[in-house]
Amino acid sequence: GNFIVTIDGPAGVGKSTLAKRLAKHLGIAYLDTGAMYRSLALHAGAGVADLSDAEMREMFTAYSYALKKEDDQYALYFNGKKIGEEIRTEKAGRLASVVAKIPEVRKALQKFQREIGEETALVAEGRDMGTVVFPYAPVKFFLDARPEVRAKRRYDELTGKGQQEKYEDILQNIIARDEQDRNRAADPLAPHENAIIVDTSELDIEGVFQELVRHCQI
Ligand code: C5P
Repeated sequence: GNFIVTIDGPAGVGKSTLAKRLAKHLGIAYLDTGAMYRSLALHAGAGVADLSDAEMREMFTAYSYALKKEDDQYALYFNGKKIGEEIRTEKAGRLASVVAKIPEVRKALQKFQREIGEETALVAEGRDMGTVVFPYAPVKFFLDARPEVRAKRRYDELTGKGQQEKYEDILQNIIARDEQDRNRAADPLAPHENAIIVDTSELDIEGVFQELVRHCQI
């Protein structure tokens, strides 16, 4: 199979930034699975929680995801449309976390993710990459950091993009999303037993990046 590196961890830990950089460094594709849940949640709305299994199956035969190489970047498409900045809001994250509790939704998205992994080598980032989707990946990371540190990073990131959010609200959102992701029945957020656990609370992005690179030299 293709070379796969998995990066899992809670909201706001810096997974996306690091996964993107690591993929570039290794010269392989980057798969942001949170973006898959976010775009689906925005498209379908919280109403998906009320669909029957049959309706859910039907829904996913009509949906599609694709990872396309454009110049030296990889772009994720949902139903033929490039996923953009519209998914990068606190509201979309919260909605994604609700949709991600539904086992049928998870199974459908995990299937799309495995198919993408069969086509191309990946740095795959999410909550269940190492535990469920790519457990055979030779390098599996689990990033963690204190909620206050993650809230501060998210706050800086959002205000840097001109979004008006309060630090307190972001912190509450992060705590609520952690709770939801760690305690759900289907594929709860947890490190794989062979995962390399990196606490990033006291490290800057550069420090974490160097550590990840070091573990990928195999
Ligand atoms: O990583 P991101 O914040 O974009 O993910 C949004 C939400 O999607 C998470 O809070 C989580 O509930 C869900 N998710 C998931 N499994 C993944 C990726 C994301 O359950 N592999």
